[in-house]
Order: sequence, then structure tokens, then C-alpha cells
Amino acid sequence: MELPPSAAPLRALPADSLPSTVLSAVRDGSAGTADASAYLYEPAIAAGNAAALRACLPAWAEICYAVKANGFAPILDALLSGLGIDGFEVSSTREVRLALDAFDRVASRRRRLVSSGPAKSLALLTALAETPDAVVNVESPGELHRLEGVAARLGRRVTVAVRVNPRQVRLTGSLQMGGRPSAFGVPEPEVPAVLELARRLPHVDVAGFHVHAVSANLDVPAHLDYVRWCLDFAERAARAARMDLRLLDVGGGFGVPFEPDRKGERPFDLARFGDGLSRLAVPTGVQMIFEPGRLLVADCGWYAAQVADVKRSYGTTFVVLRGGIHHFALPTSWEIVHNFAVVNRNGPLLGDPGDQELATGPNGSGDPGRGEDPGVRDPAGSGTTDQAGQTDQAGPAGPAGPAEEREVAATWPMAEVDTTGRAVTVVGELCTPEDTLARDITVGPVRTGDAVVFPMAGAYGYEFALAEFLGHARPRRVVLPPAGGRLRAPRSLPGAHE
Ligand SMILES: *Cc1c(COP(=O)(O)O)cnc(C)c1O
Repeated sequence: MELPPSAAPLRALPADSLPSTVLSAVRDGSAGTADASAYLYEPAIAAGNAAALRACLPAWAEICYAVKANGFAPILDALLSGLGIDGFEVSSTREVRLALDAFDRVASRRRRLVSSGPAKSLALLTALAETPDAVVNVESPGELHRLEGVAARLGRRVTVAVRVNPRQVRLTGSLQMGGRPSAFGVPEPEVPAVLELARRLPHVDVAGFHVHAVSANLDVPAHLDYVRWCLDFAERAARAARMDLRLLDVGGGFGVPFEPDRKGERPFDLARFGDGLSRLAVPTGVQMIFEPGRLLVADCGWYAAQVADVKRSYGTTFVVLRGGIHHFALPTSWEIVHNFAVVNRNGPLLGDPGDQELATGPNGSGDPGRGEDPGVRDPAGSGTTDQAGQTDQAGPAGPAGPAEEREVAATWPMAEVDTTGRAVTVVGELCTPEDTLARDITVGPVRTGDAVVFPMAGAYGYEFALAEFLGHARPRRVVLPPAGGRLRAPRSLPGAHE
């Protein structure tokens, strides 16, 4: 794990670049009164992403959302009910349960499950064998044997795709892949032998192939090349084995722009991708599956953490969060510059209960959100709830929220460190220097009790964190009311979604 790279001379995002729903939830503390840190989600954004992908795909394509990116039930439901996706990609019995529960909740008629992973347990293989419409992406000859054993015991025939680790894929553009040793999939030269083995196993039905060899890709021509390679490979391999090709799962790996300012990244161009796909000669009867994770959910989530301390150490200014990589490990694990916005919520409350800032709201237009927002507000002040009671973590009682922190700060006024115009390092509360979320990002004033908000935290956020390390509370997950809903005037800002 490397620290995130230095972001200098990057400036923090302006607070009003956050959607008004997020800004007011954070500013009035409703999302973090009992908990100093939280994930805020707008499931409608995920649903919109799925619908946008669906709209660009030909009829022969299915979408199975990779649950590992974000398994929060309201997100799964939104993806499924929005007509965008056909099912889920899962890798554990818990993810199978999350997926099946979502199918049931939204009474989905589409119930596709695909499953990958190099060490599938017997329990997982059994759950898959018992699920109609499940496809097992088999990773090795050993797994094929285990699956045969499980399926035979159940008296079922299981649909299988052989996961392939390609030898070499020539791609235009920025993408490189193929030929690397990996625990994932069957090396390309060994595919014929695995197909031969499968032919002798009566309870497995090989319908085709699976390749998931791309990650975080923003390059449309390269992704098209990759899909073309998969199709060409699948047709050749099926022909050589005299098998009937019915299924080709080309995995996920669509990127999202994490660093638009620094690297000029732009969103993956779906229209252009769809145009390229429409020219592919996919044989009749072949179903192609896409397994996007990040693309569908990255921008539907925000990670907000309260500032616990601001200090200087040998010339570096540290903003210390009541949070960190046990909540949000994305910036360290991928070594990306993950920019954030600082939401000031400190000063006015100290002396003035009228609190101008809150009364005015983020639009400066008498925003009515405060205290009236059923989506994020818990009148009892004992925690945060959402419309459907869909937060999933009660969190231990007792951690002081922003209001208490401010009260304490007021009774012991001390010299604040002035961060204005300085490049700061944002760290978490863990006792390890690895707990660093951002380095050298220039900010305005940041004080104890303020919040630091990271957008683009909807994918590989909550699930990917080091939850148990040091035993701090997990962040709460909160569903925001839809942007542009009754309570909020729509506004067009970078990062806001109408
Ligand atoms: C992680 C994963 C995905 C999703 O990847 P993204 O990069 O989030 O799109 C899809 N398929 C498999 C097999 C995976 O392991």
C-alpha cells in the first residue's frame, strides 16, 4: 500500500460543487450527528447510470452488476428496478444472498446470476447450482471437478463459462493486457483441455467463456478491441471444440474519471462504445454479458468525515479526520488523487443558535431542507435514518457529533491552525501512517468540526475498507432524497445530477 501521490498544486473542490442534497445533509449535520462520518448515497444516480449503459447496448447484451463494488440494498434495488440491469455478478454466499433478496424485493423477472472468483466454496457452488439462471465462471480444472460433484449430488446440470486468462491481446490505445500469471482463469493454451474435461462431466454444461481482464478503462477504442478479441477467441475456441457457443461474458472494467482536473479524464463515452458494438457481428443465439461495477455506482456515493483535529508537524499541515482507511481505502489502495470538498460548519453554531448558514441553506435561498427532510433526518437525534429505514449500521452509541465537538471547542478555545491557502495532508484516525487519504491539496479554512467530503465514493468504498483495524465505528450508510426532488431546487453544478 503506497500513500496517495502528492496532488500539488491541486486545490480542493469548492463546497458548492457538491449536490445540494449532499451539501445540506453534511452542513446541517443530519448525516453525522450521532456518527461523525458517513456514506451518503443517491441510488437514483446508479439507476440512471445503468439505464444509460443499457440504452447503448445491443439486444444481445446483458448487464450483470458486480455486487462487490457496492452491495448496499437500496443501491441494488435501484439498479434492478430501473430496467437497466439483468442480474448480478457475485463471488460469495453473502453476495448471492444480497442478490436474491434484491430480486425478491423488487419482484424482478430478470434473475441472472454470474459468479467468478478463484476459490469458490462448496457452499457457494451449491447456492449457484440451486439457482436457476446462474452461470458459474469456472476458474480451473479443479473447480470444474468440484462443481461436477456438487451438481451431481443435487441432481442438477449447471451452466458454466470457462474463464480465460488470455495469452496476448493486441489493443490500440492505452490498455495493455494478457500473458501474465494469475490465479484468475484458465491460461489460454489450456482452454482446449479444460473443454475436453468438461465434456466428460455430465452435470456441467459449458455455454461459453468469460474474460475479465480490463480495469478502470476510459479508452473506448481499446475496450472495443478487447470485446472483439473476446468474441473472436470464443468463436475460434468453440469451433475447435465443436461446441455450441451461447454465452460470452466479457467482464467489467469500465473506468470513471477520478482525476478530471489533474489528468483531464473524461467519462467513458457510452454512445461511442454502443456505436462500435452495434457493428460487431455477434452470431445469433450468442448472449454477451457485461459485468460493470465501478461505472454504475462510483458517482452515486459520497464519503463524509468530520475533522477531528488540525495540526502542524515540521512544516506539514495535517487535517485529521474522524474516519480514514477503515472507512474509505480507495485513495491509498489505488494511489489515486481523490479530491474532496471541505464543508465548513463550525463557526456560527458556537455563538449563535440562529445559525445563519443553516437557516439560509446551500442555495442561499431559504433551503427548506433543515429539519424537514425525511430522507436524512432523525428528529430524535439518536442516529440517522432514511425514507425506508435503510441505514444498515446502528453504530455504537456515544461518539460525539459535530455539535458536541463544537461545544467542547467553545469551552476550551484554543488557537486554531490557519489552513487558508495551504496544501494539507488529510489523514484518518488510525494509528498507522498508511491512513492517509490525500496529500498536498490546497484548502481554505478548515477547522475542527468541519467535514471533508469525497465524491465518487460509491464504488469500492464501504466494502473495500479495512473495517476491523483498530476497532473504530463503521460509517453509517445514508440514502439521500433524490436530487431535484420536492425539497431541493435543481441546480447545475459540476458533479450535480439532475
Ligand atoms: C470486480 C469484477 C467486476 C467489476 O469490475 P469493475 O472494474 O468494477 O467494472 C466484474 N467482473 C469480475 C469477475 C470482477 O472480479
